[in-house]
Amino acid sequence: MNDSSWIRKMFEEGISLKEKYGHDNVYDFSLGNPILDPPEEFFESLAKISKTRVKGIHGYMPNAGFKSTRNKISKKISKQSKSSLNYNDILMTAGAAGAINVILHSILNQNDEVIIFKPFFPEYKFYIDNHGGKSLFCDFNEDFTPSLDSLKSLISPNTKALIINSPNNPTGITYSEKNLKDICKIASEAESKFNSDIFIISDEPYRHLMYENSNQPFIFDLHKNGIVASSFSKDLSIAGERIGFIALGEKLNEKELILDALNFSNRTLGFVNAPAIGQRLVESSINSLSNVNSYKLKRDYLYSELTSYGYEIVKPSGGFYLFPKSPINDIEFTELLKKEKILVVPGSGFGAPGYFRISYSVDDSIIENSLAGFKKTIKNIRT
Ligand code: PLP
Repeated sequence: MNDSSWIRKMFEEGISLKEKYGHDNVYDFSLGNPILDPPEEFFESLAKISKTRVKGIHGYMPNAGFKSTRNKISKKISKQSKSSLNYNDILMTAGAAGAINVILHSILNQNDEVIIFKPFFPEYKFYIDNHGGKSLFCDFNEDFTPSLDSLKSLISPNTKALIINSPNNPTGITYSEKNLKDICKIASEAESKFNSDIFIISDEPYRHLMYENSNQPFIFDLHKNGIVASSFSKDLSIAGERIGFIALGEKLNEKELILDALNFSNRTLGFVNAPAIGQRLVESSINSLSNVNSYKLKRDYLYSELTSYGYEIVKPSGGFYLFPKSPINDIEFTELLKKEKILVVPGSGFGAPGYFRISYSVDDSIIENSLAGFKKTIKNIRT
């Protein structure tokens, strides 16, 4: 079984279990699909767009997207960061996934190396493969921060990029300013030593789902070759609308060349441009969020219940995932949970055997009704 296909496998097993036992009797924590409603502004804007009859509004546009949307995003980031961006620094994409693919296509040559951090979002490996790159995997510390020794041992003249992800899928942890600075220092030292450019791609679709330390620095404020890949999938709960963006810092090396390459890649990978309606929608919802506090409440409840049963968990501070330690082999343990009709994803699927991922973006009733099964399963192992 391919390690990175675990999420799909569990999701599909969930579908057949639900057919057998009924939807409400299966506790499916396998997928990271946002369950909240998009904010009111989103629906108001959607209604407005549907009534608008402006010539060309649904037609092609520049590959980077609408100037007005890019302008709004650049202003918002300028307020939150130490950089002053303008619309030219923003390129609209088909989600964060589209953004990462566009960036990798633009910067990678055949066999260039990209370092990703375990536990990782499994799609990264496919994205890197798509564009001829080679994935290298950095180890992690007990608290899921990157092992700096491992990073130092992997970085080389062949390193073209690092992909970081905070708040993180699958662990839910967020990187502190120190964690980010440590990573950037290693990258900048390697750039000087090897006379190369090393891009740090910050994949951050969960930036606005942070529950404690909510002012995470922007990567381009810490590393001149820092690039943000983000989206509105999670904070506006519109993952199906496929709308995201790339943001470049003021000091990026060879910025014009990179901008040309990003535009070209957005076009030739077949996206052409990000969805037009999606761009209009996020432009008018730029200062809105889904009710993310409800994720925090779910996190607090599930974390306190599971730890009281004996699960060991690094308390997450963002996203909507928990990544508990598995008391036995993670694949065997997820099978035991499945007997209780609980579906989670083994850590092996994220390059981290010995753990499992719970996506708590589910109704409260699913959490509530799953608890007896979580309790029984760990109790049976411990006694
Ligand atoms: N990066 C991470 C870490 C994710 O968890 C996801 C989606 O789950 C994505 C990227 C893709 O997000 P989008 O829907 O914006 O393409």
